[in-house]
Amino acid sequence: MPASLLIVAYAVLVGVPVALGWLLVGPARAWPDEVSSALAMAGFAALLLEFLLSGRFRAVSGGIGIDRTMRWHQTFARVLTAALLIHPFLYTTPTGAQFLRPEDATQAGILGLDAYTLATGAVAWLLLGVLTLTAIGRDSMPWRYETWRLMHGLGAALIAVLGMRHTLWAGRYSTHPVLAGYWVALFGLAALSLLAVYVARPLRLARRPWRIAAVTPAAERTWEVVLEPVGHPGLRFRAGQFAWIRLDRSPFSMREHPFSIASAPGGDGRLSFLVKEAGDFTRTIGTLRPGARAFVEGPHGTLTVDGRGEPGLCLIGGGVGVAPLLSILRGRRLAGDARPALLVYGNRHAGQIVAQDAVEALGAEVVHVLQEPPPGWAGETGMVSRDFVKRRCAAAAQAGWLFVLCGPPPMMREVRAGLAALGVPARRILEERFVYD
Ligand SMILES: Cc1cc2nc3c(=O)[nH]c(=O)nc-3n(C[C@H](O)[C@H](O)[C@H](O)COP(=O)(O)OP(=O)(O)OC[C@H]3O[C@@H](n4cnc5c(N)ncnc54)[C@H](O)[C@@H]3O)c2cc1C
Repeated sequence: MPASLLIVAYAVLVGVPVALGWLLVGPARAWPDEVSSALAMAGFAALLLEFLLSGRFRAVSGGIGIDRTMRWHQTFARVLTAALLIHPFLYTTPTGAQFLRPEDATQAGILGLDAYTLATGAVAWLLLGVLTLTAIGRDSMPWRYETWRLMHGLGAALIAVLGMRHTLWAGRYSTHPVLAGYWVALFGLAALSLLAVYVARPLRLARRPWRIAAVTPAAERTWEVVLEPVGHPGLRFRAGQFAWIRLDRSPFSMREHPFSIASAPGGDGRLSFLVKEAGDFTRTIGTLRPGARAFVEGPHGTLTVDGRGEPGLCLIGGGVGVAPLLSILRGRRLAGDARPALLVYGNRHAGQIVAQDAVEALGAEVVHVLQEPPPGWAGETGMVSRDFVKRRCAAAAQAGWLFVLCGPPPMMREVRAGLAALGVPARRILEERFVYD
């Protein structure tokens, strides 16, 4: 789905409960109370939609890419958290049976909060604050990524259940059958997306198993992992895409990690990945044995040059960020694409360069950039900085080439600044980030 359509669909789904409430019941209270109700309803609708947004569904993220979807998930989560946390403090209407006026059919003079409704709202409120704060500060927490992810998912599901109970009982608008039906439908969608992610998807993966064919050192603290399909033709993907893989684990395991495919589409169906040791899982890659089972969920990602008509390709990668760029270069060679290509490949030192000979045999001009060059190094030195980009990529920028970037965040920032200075428009820059911050 294109970004504009997604935004419109999202805004409509978030706005519908507010509109329905005002149309079907009608605003009858002071404006702070109406703002509070609107924040609560829009915020809760957005919260339920977060399950769809973070579920890696092709219909949602296929058009805009997982990277952007995750950024939306995080941004919307912050906004909806603020809305939901603020809303209880805006009410001017009192709570309690003593304020009930039987003659007022709208019940506008009282907040319908019994003990359960108050408790479910308060616990959901607290949990939501904790969930969002722990997501923002995830990297400084002492938990493993998988532990955080499990707690994040369970916490979100609990907030949705508590929030649902609170909304259906407390909401002056939400007690209307049409609006209650809308909440049930949205809640059902969130529950279905959890089932799809944690039950249906693993079951589907189980029917298409893979096997580890080889695990070999590719460079310093970097491994090449080759997977082969077992009893099926493999994965249809476009060069530059990535997949979530589980190695020597069940398809239901939480230990799944995203890695870019470094091989080209087609061939014998094998997939090659370059894995850099970065944490507790990737540090164990070298201990995996050929023959162990694996599961591949994908393909994902929009870092692909298929269908692009630019007269040349300038690929700029840093460290293991070269993986999708290798796939693009390999795919280009297989497809007989005669457009010129330039690969700028930055590393700290020569020991980190992956498969130097193979890279140089891919038919592209390769420019290695080393921060700590060995004695006698005749190539480029230093960082892939904005000045480097301005100097080395000026001709490609002027000739209207497509730029494809993948590397550490500071390098990507520098490259983007250099390309902006060269006047390269955003539509001619594709990028993949290896971190969802
Ligand atoms: C689209 C994409 C493509 C990637 N391609 C490659 C690649 O080709 N080669 C490569 O070496 N690395 C790649 N990475 C990074 C790789 O996924 C992480 O380095 C790896 O998951 C770290 O796992 P760990 O348990 O060893 O480290 P941890 O210490 O657990 O994690 C380090 C960081 O990696 C990220 N991470 C960990 N697990 C996951 C997960 N399941 N989902 C999303 N992010 C996670 C988190 O930001 C975490 O803070 C890619 C990441 C993304 C998002």
